[in-house]
Amino acid sequence: MRLLTTLILFVSLITSCSQPTTPEKPPATPVDGHAIREHIQRLASDEMEGRAPGGKGEELATSYIADFYRSIGLRTQFQAVPMIGITSTVAPMKLTGKAGSQTLKFGEQFMAWSRLEKNNIPIDADLVFCGYGVVAPEYQWNDFKSDVKGKIIVVLINDPQLEDQSKFGGRAMTYYGRWTYKFEEAARQGAAGALIVHETQFAGYPWEVVRGSWSGEQFDIVRTDKGASTVPLQGWITRDVAAALFKSAGMDFDALKKKALDPEFRPIPLGIKAAVDLKNAMHRVDSKNVIGVLEGSERPDEYVIFTAHWDHLGVSEPQNGDKIYNGAVDNASGVALMMEIARAGTKAQVKPKRSIVFMAVTGEEQGLLGSDYYAENPVFPLNKTVANINIDEANVFGRNNGRIQVIGFGYTQLEDILKDVVAKQGRTMTADAEPQKGFYFRSDQFSFAKRGVPALYTKSVTVEDEHEFTEKRYHKPSDEFDPAWDMKAAVADGDALLEVALRVANGGEWPEWKPGTEFRAIREKSLKK
Ligand SMILES: [Zn+2]
Repeated sequence: MRLLTTLILFVSLITSCSQPTTPEKPPATPVDGHAIREHIQRLASDEMEGRAPGGKGEELATSYIADFYRSIGLRTQFQAVPMIGITSTVAPMKLTGKAGSQTLKFGEQFMAWSRLEKNNIPIDADLVFCGYGVVAPEYQWNDFKSDVKGKIIVVLINDPQLEDQSKFGGRAMTYYGRWTYKFEEAARQGAAGALIVHETQFAGYPWEVVRGSWSGEQFDIVRTDKGASTVPLQGWITRDVAAALFKSAGMDFDALKKKALDPEFRPIPLGIKAAVDLKNAMHRVDSKNVIGVLEGSERPDEYVIFTAHWDHLGVSEPQNGDKIYNGAVDNASGVALMMEIARAGTKAQVKPKRSIVFMAVTGEEQGLLGSDYYAENPVFPLNKTVANINIDEANVFGRNNGRIQVIGFGYTQLEDILKDVVAKQGRTMTADAEPQKGFYFRSDQFSFAKRGVPALYTKSVTVEDEHEFTEKRYHKPSDEFDPAWDMKAAVADGDALLEVALRVANGGEWPEWKPGTEFRAIREKSLKK
């Protein structure tokens, strides 16, 4: 997924002052830039057809990674990831209340789909306004003080932005602000549906993005719970529709929005019934994760797991006569770096005490599907998984201004280890420059985080390089291998991440979530099992 632009805070501190201090004993053969370059070139070649899940590109890419793992002596296996492509056809939505009835137009006024693996999904239920739709024990917050089972909840986008910023991370978005969370919580509440009120200002993107993203085929993993973890109707309504809806129920949208910031807020029935029919066309795609294990010497059944997604967008709409979306930066580069970290890891002078796993996951571009499937069906128990380190887009541009950024800064103790490690390289660790965008929840580390496994995600790309990449190449056929790339920064990042992994693999205490973070309680519960 995509990353970010940073603000230039101040000019590099390190130009004059430092020869990086060498650690007493180098942990491993350093990561090799030539090898990273070769892996990227192969994985991003036209032959691999943009590495879409399920095709020839998948076959070639996953074999390439697995063969490499075997060649360096990792115990290697595949995890089958069954996926399903769903195209929902949605009829207009009929609303009936005291003030009469009206019909909403699909696309223009509402978006809806269903992840249920069923051909016909008729929905007909009462609308209930549930504020931000959040249950956050660490903030003593619960928007569901009454039962909404079988109802369609109407919820606000983002997390409650309290005036004093005393809860929900202040400026930083917490997971409670993400739309994915809203639907997950609706499922936990047993709701029949959830409609998120779209407001451009708070979502950070216009209605067209909602409309575009949710038209056409959507992918999901095949779920063993037969849909118990998904709310049958997932959808959005525009702000205008919401305002009119509340008005017809004799209420004022802005006033209710204010009310939703009160911790005493309770669900408010709107006295309106919503009915909509969805028809799903489905097709199955079989994909896989590639897993390589560097076995631990003392605690082989405890794991540090690296992840990097091997998939990209495949062959699609041509641009400038090119229809192969090679995904060289996104994320051949991340996989290449992980492979090279694995190789360097096998050469570590002292074998790691815990096992280190190198997992190339599928379906990230379709919604973190490979990592999500893994975390739902873990090969190695999550309560034996000490940490996750994810790499999505290596820094192939050479420059890093002596800084490495932690995305999701302030979440875990892993960043304390990283801080020390990069200081020894003569570099500085910095905070997530755009915490309000919630990037921590948008790549594969999140599949681990939301199930309680402490997860680290870093970036060292400079603002100029990131801007240029985002504008010219991100998710375009022009994201291709460039021989002019310089692997200096990628090598430094790789060395640092390997060192972090080795310290965790050999350390006494397990790294923890920092107090007050939303995943800490989940971890504590999972470790008690
Ligand atoms: Zn990516």
